[in-house]
Amino acid sequence: PPTFKHNFTAGPFQGTSTFSTGLFINNEFQDGEGQKTIDVFNPSTEKVIAQIAEASAADVDRAVQAAQKAFETSWGLTVPGNERGKLMMKLADLIERDIDEIAAIESLDNGKAFSVSKNFDVTQAAAVIRYYAGWADKVHGNVIEVNEQQLAYTRHEPIGVVGQIIPWNFPLYMFSWKVGPALATGNTIVLKPSEFTSLSALRVCALIVEAGFPPGVVNVVPGYGKIAGKAISTHMGIEKVAFTGSTVVGQEIMRDAASTNLKKVTLELGGKSPSIVFDDADIEQAVRWAAYGVFFNHGQTCCAGSRIFVQESIYDKFLEGFTKRVKSLQVGDPFHPETFQGPQVSQLQYDRVMGYIEHGKKEGATLHLGGERHGTEGYFIQPTIFTDVTADMKICREEIFGPVGVVKTFKDEHGRQIWIVIFAIFFISGADIIHQANDTFYGLAAAIFSSNISRALKTAHELKAGTVWINCVNQLHASVPFGGFKQSGFGRELGEYALDNYTNIKTVNVNLSRDSP
Ligand code: NAD
Repeated sequence: PPTFKHNFTAGPFQGTSTFSTGLFINNEFQDGEGQKTIDVFNPSTEKVIAQIAEASAADVDRAVQAAQKAFETSWGLTVPGNERGKLMMKLADLIERDIDEIAAIESLDNGKAFSVSKNFDVTQAAAVIRYYAGWADKVHGNVIEVNEQQLAYTRHEPIGVVGQIIPWNFPLYMFSWKVGPALATGNTIVLKPSEFTSLSALRVCALIVEAGFPPGVVNVVPGYGKIAGKAISTHMGIEKVAFTGSTVVGQEIMRDAASTNLKKVTLELGGKSPSIVFDDADIEQAVRWAAYGVFFNHGQTCCAGSRIFVQESIYDKFLEGFTKRVKSLQVGDPFHPETFQGPQVSQLQYDRVMGYIEHGKKEGATLHLGGERHGTEGYFIQPTIFTDVTADMKICREEIFGPVGVVKTFKDEHGRQIWIVIFAIFFISGADIIHQANDTFYGLAAAIFSSNISRALKTAHELKAGTVWINCVNQLHASVPFGGFKQSGFGRELGEYALDNYTNIKTVNVNLSRDSP
């Protein structure tokens, strides 16, 4: 199988990192059918740095068979929760042991700043796996006493082989969101990382072996969405598929699940999240969070606060501070300690984001800041702000998934509607922030900045979003559920809620009397 070999010379991990980049099936790295491979690019240099094996449908099938065998013999209902939890704890410890190397691999492959890879992605991935390790022996059903003669109890049984398909924006972190609850509840896994960023998951596969997981419990099949991804969503032996990615692919996964074996589906999809800044907000705090909201991870965040709404009376002051803040964000080499923003992940994403910027200009929005390529090598884009935008513009409606934010005003949160009669025609004046914020087919997240807790909570309850942050944004914790309303998907990840995605509830009814019909 292909191998990754790279000599890191900057950052806390210095030295050569070497590991297999084959398909990980049955605890072994293997070639894909016909030894096909996919080139891995460094987005900072646009150069090929490695190859990974490419899984075919037949390879996915082999992985499913390995997972089925493991489910029946060495995982599933045959292994007590505390033993599963112990292995998961070990895996979290090993990820932390190798954190510098894994973070360096993530930065090289994805382009995110090393400090973010280390202190956010890899740290949180270990935290999520450890959190779910703690749940592994605490997943159980209820006893329901129907009457004196009958009782029923429920069992939360693992589903079996689950398929998991993840994107490229938080490669290892998304891996942990998926494998954590699935392993804790006793399922076995066939996971497909993004074809753009499979390295960190493959590096961690070596730790799965080292931790002592039985073969076949976790199988990782890098490959293309239309081949390996589709083989997962259509496989008759996979009874549940969890997907994180774009809404359009989410729809396809649902269709595939429906037309094959009705596998259970959970979807974490895109967003166009609002950040709302009220006139009583601490402006300096709001400026910093709002910038973090849209530009964190180069804007490649599903919950990015890419629509910023500012109350009219503080708009000028906010925009001045916001512009200054955004100008101060360091764009450049992910391994430079001061870097906040690295390159976009791929040529495809670079072109897509630049296309949106051009569209915004053509639509008549004001390009307030940025809008150009940064440097001459790599997929770097300047942090970009548009103003004078209208709700119907493409840059206001569609997920850009890059460092591009729009800033817009609103009048108040109550939808102050003043009806003016002019020649018997009604005009509505006064912006309604709830209406503006909810005017999107997405519903993943929202942020509110206000020092008035009643106002903030009232607004939070009126927003159609799966997560609302108050005086902060992009805060994710292993124990706190996350997921979408509307076309941002369904099912919750993280926290106790995510366990529900991975169990079948079985009811056992018991007749305690000698009665019979
Ligand atoms: P994508 O939908 O193109 O791909 C996601 C994954 O699906 C990849 O592994 C890809 O290979 C696979 N895939 C593609 N086509 C497939 C098909 N027909 N059948 C099966 N699998 C297929 O998305 P992306 O470009 O990798 O990621 C960006 C998107 O992910 C954004 O829309 C973003 O908002 C979303 N996202 C959402 C969350 C969340 O938690 N809601 C988190 C991260 C990213």
